[in-house]
Amino acid sequence: MNYEAVIGLETHVQLNTNSKMFSLSSAKYQNQEPNTIVDPTSMGLPGALPVVNKKAVESAIMIGLALDCSISSKTKFDRKQYFYPDLMKGYQISQFDEPICYEGFVELSSGKKIRINRVHMEEDVAKLTHINTSDSNYSLLDINRSGTPLMEIVTEPDLSSSNEVIEYIENLQKIIRYIGVGSANMEEGSFRCDANISIRKKGSKELGTKVEIKNMNRVSAVADAVDYEIKRQIKSKENNEIIIQETRGWSDEKSITISQRTKEESNDYRYFPEPDIPPLEISADWVNEIQDCLPELPKSRKEKYITEYQLSEYDANLLTGDIDFSNFFEATIESHNKNKDSIKYIANLMNGEFSRLLNINSNNYENLKFTPEDLSNLVEIYFQNKINNKILKTVLEEMWDTGSKPNDIINDKNLSIISDSGELEDTISNIIESNPKAVEDFKAGKEQSQKFLLGQVMKQTKGQADPKISSEIINKILQTK
Ligand code: ADP
Ligand code: MG
Repeated sequence: MNYEAVIGLETHVQLNTNSKMFSLSSAKYQNQEPNTIVDPTSMGLPGALPVVNKKAVESAIMIGLALDCSISSKTKFDRKQYFYPDLMKGYQISQFDEPICYEGFVELSSGKKIRINRVHMEEDVAKLTHINTSDSNYSLLDINRSGTPLMEIVTEPDLSSSNEVIEYIENLQKIIRYIGVGSANMEEGSFRCDANISIRKKGSKELGTKVEIKNMNRVSAVADAVDYEIKRQIKSKENNEIIIQETRGWSDEKSITISQRTKEESNDYRYFPEPDIPPLEISADWVNEIQDCLPELPKSRKEKYITEYQLSEYDANLLTGDIDFSNFFEATIESHNKNKDSIKYIANLMNGEFSRLLNINSNNYENLKFTPEDLSNLVEIYFQNKINNKILKTVLEEMWDTGSKPNDIINDKNLSIISDSGELEDTISNIIESNPKAVEDFKAGKEQSQKFLLGQVMKQTKGQADPKISSEIINKILQTK
């Protein structure tokens, strides 16, 4: 029997606001002493009142707009109750039936649109660390994370394979980083994905029973978990077993999913409207203001690179993959006369030598010693035929190490192309004198001999001779022989 997979993702994205979702203590809880950034609200003390963080709402609207969602003109918060000690109040403030953003999409490179069901705002919970050793068994509680702003982005069950899942995740990460609302880093926990997976007979329109997979903390782990779970479900089906609706956890060590709780044990969250926070009115003016401040998104940049700059899809993908990288490219071509040849040259340079050097320097832009203007200037010098491609790479490496300006490096190291005819004529005469065989070859009509001589000129001048002028001089002298 042929089966197809149906996958929906629920992604939690931490925002990089200064303060928490409903209180004033810092939201930067990473690497802090446990239980040091707390306040009555994030500790859930009786009588403490939550106040909505405006910046977090703006970030949610930005995410919604970037995902082509509609933005609710009226939205509210709800209490979600469940019994687990990571909740300070016994409930989490979340959004239930009136999320801030709804009905958007993320487009994959195949053109397939993954529909976004909703984006809602909530607060993160405290962190529990369970200690289980032979002689002790207890849990440690760190409240620092409690109350930090969290966005949940839920897709429709539109994904069909682990490849699509990865592409969706990477797109989402890119978007979050481009609009600057979070770091979207799975390893550090600022971006977490749960995958809902079911299978059905190919072509069937009905949805199968879904299984939710949690605990993946790398993009590749999500792909592995999805692949494993699809195989497991197909095998169950083929053995005539019933697939039960459950939550399973991904075990990185064992590379399998393990049942955590079944539907019967699942929670009834008993949502009800949060009485301490009045519903939020979101005016069209506010949304428009935010829309106007939204930076150019990777998708439209990529389109621009392909249609306007005539770069290949491959190059455009590389250039838009990382926001810092893309911004550097944009700034470089911005300070350059934007002709197609130089844009293409800069694109190749950035995807090639620049990336190589960046990699060696652990992709760190903070220590970069030169500016996009310097790079643009270097390319300009190349297009003026003052240096060749090989020397340009040498200069770029020197810029990377020292931050010196391209012109200074070229002058100090005497790297510019020799185009002085007199100087070249002397060099070339000598070379021709000491290569009588090449002269004979030329007389015998062997074209190759000119190339050979040019090679000798390049060798002797360490690649600095102007090839065009040199060729002319070689030809001129040979004619006289
Ligand atoms: P729940 O009520 O269990 O949270 P939802 O309907 O809210 O379920 O869906 C949660 C996620 O699961 C969404 O991303 C949705 O697209 C996905 N999903 C729902 N049904 C299925 C299914 N049968 N197979 C795969 N994914 C599903
Ligand atoms: Mg749900």
